Amino acid sequence: MSTTQTRTEQHAATDGGPHVSFQEPRRKGKASRRTAPLAASQAFVRAKNIQKSYFKGKIEVPVLRGVDLAVHEGESLAIVGQSGSGKSTLLHLLATLDAPDQGEIHFEGERIDNLKPKGRDRLRNGQFGMIFQFYHLLPELTTLENVLTPLMITHGAFGYWRNRRRHIDQAKQLLELVGLGHRLNHRPRELSGGEMQRAAIARALVAQPRVLFADEPTGNLDPETGREILEILRTLNKQHSLTIVMVTHDMSIAQDADRVVVLENGRIAGAE
Ligand code: ADP
Ligand code: MG
Repeated sequence: MSTTQTRTEQHAATDGGPHVSFQEPRRKGKASRRTAPLAASQAFVRAKNIQKSYFKGKIEVPVLRGVDLAVHEGESLAIVGQSGSGKSTLLHLLATLDAPDQGEIHFEGERIDNLKPKGRDRLRNGQFGMIFQFYHLLPELTTLENVLTPLMITHGAFGYWRNRRRHIDQAKQLLELVGLGHRLNHRPRELSGGEMQRAAIARALVAQPRVLFADEPTGNLDPETGREILEILRTLNKQHSLTIVMVTHDMSIAQDADRVVVLENGRIAGAE
């Protein structure tokens, strides 16, 4: 379960080819863009006593009943749980796509579950990236255009246009990094599942996020293609120090991560 140095070195040695970085490899503990260096013990992303219910008619169905979780900078963390255990719900809350009923989410020591829309959008578009089981690519756009979409949203039409050459180069480099440099002008329907997930990974990384949230990223892929996607994620984590939080129902996939926690009965099993 723990990722050994040997595996990392082997991986680096066999990776081959030109290596394009979407962001400079970070030294652990380097100061963030916004805040002072973190104390060693401080979590990067933290969930504190998170509770979340859904309503089925008038009946309240509790899903998360007090989730406590700390994600550390630079780690890859897998959250496993059975189907329906609340994995997607938790991931969405961590990524501020939804708000908890009770409890708090913190990022670099700052509370983020109650941000105003502008601050939340800045966080989602800048610091967090997300990939899903079903990719969620825009069907009318090419691979390259899909990857560029977050930059258009973040910078606005004018800002994007002014720096479009740099943005396009960046998107192409990322597509090379995930092994999709030869499919720039294909539309999603012309891509395989694995290729679509590669495009989705490039899109999630184009704004240089600090954390990648992955919701069953191999859930729709055959085992071999799934392993290729996990290999990409492992490279991003080990070589580019990208913090990754992945949820999956599949223990064999979770074992790829540095650390595995189990979501059970609405809580992280064995959490403090
Ligand atoms: P998992 O990802 O582990 O399969 P989910 O987080 O998707 O679990 O869902 C947990 C539970 O919450 C399930 O019982 C599901 O039916 C329910 N649920 C999820 N989203 C909603 C929603 N938007 N409205 C009502 N119930 C929901
Ligand atoms: Mg789910």
